[in-house]
Amino acid sequence: MLKFKYVHLYSNQTNTLDLVKIILPEVQKYFPNIIIDLRRLRRPVLYNINEIIAEALVSIRISNIMKPFSRQLKKEAYYRPRLEDLVYEIKFPWTLVSSNTCPRIDTFKDAYSRELILYDGFMMQRLLRTMINENETNTDHVHIIFEDRLVCTFSDEDWRYHARTIVSGVPSIISIAVIIEAPARSKEWYIKHMELAAFDIPIDNECELSNEERLTMNKYLGYGDNRINFVVIGYILQILFFFITEGNPFCTDIGCRLYNSHWQEELIHSQLKAGNLCDKHYSLLQQFNTASIDYHCF
Ligand SMILES: [Zn+2]
Repeated sequence: MLKFKYVHLYSNQTNTLDLVKIILPEVQKYFPNIIIDLRRLRRPVLYNINEIIAEALVSIRISNIMKPFSRQLKKEAYYRPRLEDLVYEIKFPWTLVSSNTCPRIDTFKDAYSRELILYDGFMMQRLLRTMINENETNTDHVHIIFEDRLVCTFSDEDWRYHARTIVSGVPSIISIAVIIEAPARSKEWYIKHMELAAFDIPIDNECELSNEERLTMNKYLGYGDNRINFVVIGYILQILFFFITEGNPFCTDIGCRLYNSHWQEELIHSQLKAGNLCDKHYSLLQQFNTASIDYHCF
């Protein structure tokens, strides 16, 4: 059991999460003896970035989801990113464009929907690791970075990339875009989307639900949806249990917040309707909390 002492949270670029009022107090209820970085809520890591970081982000984009990272197209020595790609990363999430009602969310969604850009999660983790405080990279600290880009990882099992809501490690990443986009859609949708994009064929999104439709239906999560705050709590727990269990955080009980949901309806059930831990994981949490009283110092 890995006994971390501090949890640091970094807000997402669009700042759509209510970390202070909803997320932090709720996580603290589960982990009363851990210091969650409330006083110094941290700004997004990949925000106001320079050209070097932008270039690094372009270099970890995935152009073909059927090939591992080492076989992606852009690895030639002479490769230089296009200027528009650098500008996209530097300006991400395009919040400067004004909008009448909800500028942050709308402009992000507009920029986002123009292109579906996927990033290799482990390469992004490696990049982010260089950007966090070196004194806080030991096992006492857990860093959780909320990210608005779409994150994916390659699977050796079926030899393709999958969108990933969480990438656990140092630091851990939670992709807000994946929470909204991935669980609602089928694998086939992603494959078709990436194939069309590879040939510059315009993508017909008519069959997709609009954000407003999603929110109205209440069945799916959408941009600006307050329920995402409660869903995020479950993902934070999954990351913290990744450390507690040393790599095996998921539960098979759909009534447990550690259930690995593949569809938004499952996600809404395990995080919102059930909204707690199963007996087994509650008992594990108690063990962790009892052990952490000994060294904790307020
Ligand atoms: Zn469980």
